[in-house]
Amino acid sequence: MGPPLPVFYDCNNCPSYCCSYVRIEVTDADVQRLARHVGVSTQHAREAYTKDGWEDGERIMRHQKDDAFGSSCLFLDTTTRLCTVHDGRPDVCRNHPVENKCGYYTFLMAERRDQDDPELIARAYNVVGEWPELEAADSLSGSEA
Ligand code: SF4
Ligand code: SF4
Repeated sequence: MGPPLPVFYDCNNCPSYCCSYVRIEVTDADVQRLARHVGVSTQHAREAYTKDGWEDGERIMRHQKDDAFGSSCLFLDTTTRLCTVHDGRPDVCRNHPVENKCGYYTFLMAERRDQDDPELIARAYNVVGEWPELEAADSLSGSEA
């Protein structure tokens, strides 16, 4: 086995864009671990923290309003941008990103460099229509141009 590949992202320098993904899938084992971590019943965790996903039987994380990305996972601290259930987070969060680079992080670094703003939170839409206030503002500024 060779040396580990270098890693081209730093989650501590990112506003946690991946936590804004609409489809953050959770398994039954994820819900049980989350319930244990928070100290609630599995049934409560399933109903309060997850909802039906795309496919039959699929459960995904519920979201909250997030000024940075429109909405994000219920467990993201929208001020610190950190996960509030880190030790109890689902497997999909533990395993992301699956490669040694992250597309959003590459984009974020390029935008921060181009705009000379090391704190910039680069916006990205997950679903059209999910962010109506910003879309309305965009069309307003577009009509003024
Ligand atoms: S995986 Fe990428 S998007 Fe998610 S927190 Fe890390 S750098 Fe940011
Ligand atoms: S559980 Fe934590 S790491 Fe996973 S999406 Fe939610 S806030 Fe992000």
